[in-house]
Amino acid sequence: MLRVLWLLILISATVLGILGVQAENKPYRLIIGFDGVSYGLMTELYDGGYFREFQRPTPLLATFPSISDPNWTLIMGVPPEDSYTKAHFHMIQHDDGSLGKEVGTVINHLTIPPNYEKIFNFKPIGVIQHLMTVTWSQTSALYWIESLSKKLLTEKLPHKHYTALIINTDIISHVSGKKALMEYFKKIEKRLSHLRKDFKKEHGRELEIVFVSDHGAYYNNPISVDFEKPLKAAGWKWSKTLRNSKDYAFVAPEIISFAAFYTRPKEECDLALLMSHIKGVQTSLCSPQKDKIQFFSKNGRVEISIDTHKRTLSYQLLSGEDPFGHDVFFKKARTLTWQEYFDLSFDTNYPYAYVRGWEGFYIAVKNPASVLVSPEKGYVFTNLTLEILTALSGIKSTHGSFEKEESLGLVMTTSKSKEEVFTPSSFYNQYVK
Ligand SMILES: [Zn+2]
Repeated sequence: MLRVLWLLILISATVLGILGVQAENKPYRLIIGFDGVSYGLMTELYDGGYFREFQRPTPLLATFPSISDPNWTLIMGVPPEDSYTKAHFHMIQHDDGSLGKEVGTVINHLTIPPNYEKIFNFKPIGVIQHLMTVTWSQTSALYWIESLSKKLLTEKLPHKHYTALIINTDIISHVSGKKALMEYFKKIEKRLSHLRKDFKKEHGRELEIVFVSDHGAYYNNPISVDFEKPLKAAGWKWSKTLRNSKDYAFVAPEIISFAAFYTRPKEECDLALLMSHIKGVQTSLCSPQKDKIQFFSKNGRVEISIDTHKRTLSYQLLSGEDPFGHDVFFKKARTLTWQEYFDLSFDTNYPYAYVRGWEGFYIAVKNPASVLVSPEKGYVFTNLTLEILTALSGIKSTHGSFEKEESLGLVMTTSKSKEEVFTPSSFYNQYVK
């Protein structure tokens, strides 16, 4: 009996030993989140011969709106933020019966870290503060990668993987444009290659690198949507709190091609209809009932019903033409699974727009807007202060809408991935969880 026991102990020890050795030989994973790097830009770099230690980039389709907070939240698997952006309108009930108050400013946007930022191992705060004082391009690229390399080579690493978030790629994209961002990445490539070699020398393991970007960008000088005049002409009033049926609220958090408007209950779809006729607006959305979304464009109106248990969407064209030209997918069956609709619509200009629109109300944030607006390509929502800033610095790219270029971030890895396309949640399930 004793001999059997010894034998068992010996076998277990050997098995554990082998497992232990294997775990150590497995590549160590470094996930680098780059804010706002488009699939198109990285593919262009790759096709130009860069990043050949990596596999070809895979697109990641952002949720709606195609902006940072909702998408990083899903990529990192953390609870949603209060709203789409730091500066927003919060729908609280006042004693006098009026609704809501404006929250935050551009300063909040730059200084309060969102939930997802807190769980990255390599935090951008120190780096970003440093970046504010230096130039965007060369110095900053080298500064963060030096700090990151130092940490990976000298500090005790977390068991699972190491995560780093680099926000300044989005800033470069907005302020300096596509070419500048490509130059930035050319510098990063060499450094990462060195880091992989040094890591192997130091730790005796391969370093697998996974790039992930949360949304894309459309490179242009944007035009701002003038919504105030047409809304005023129709009897609506821009207000700081909502008292009357035709009061609406809007906070411009930054220059983005997306907007969240707020109305009193039951007024949402009237405002959405009106918004859809404004110059530069592609679609406006409201949710008249739970899990039902209406989409308005200049030429038509569609209602989508979502079944979260069956993971399906049911389609109804209420009037005119389909805002995204997606009616063809619902000719045979009015109800499709999310996956079927994803596959059918992915190659259109507005991939997966009907489910992403629902996500904008029910997944993206804790406190959804009354009306969500997705502008036409090249148009943005902003305010006077930001417009003056734009005149000073120049804005070179935008994102936020349903539109494909603005919606496609990417995943790029040094080892093979079997996915052909990612969503923020599927990336979380495969790499972060
Ligand atoms: Zn951005």
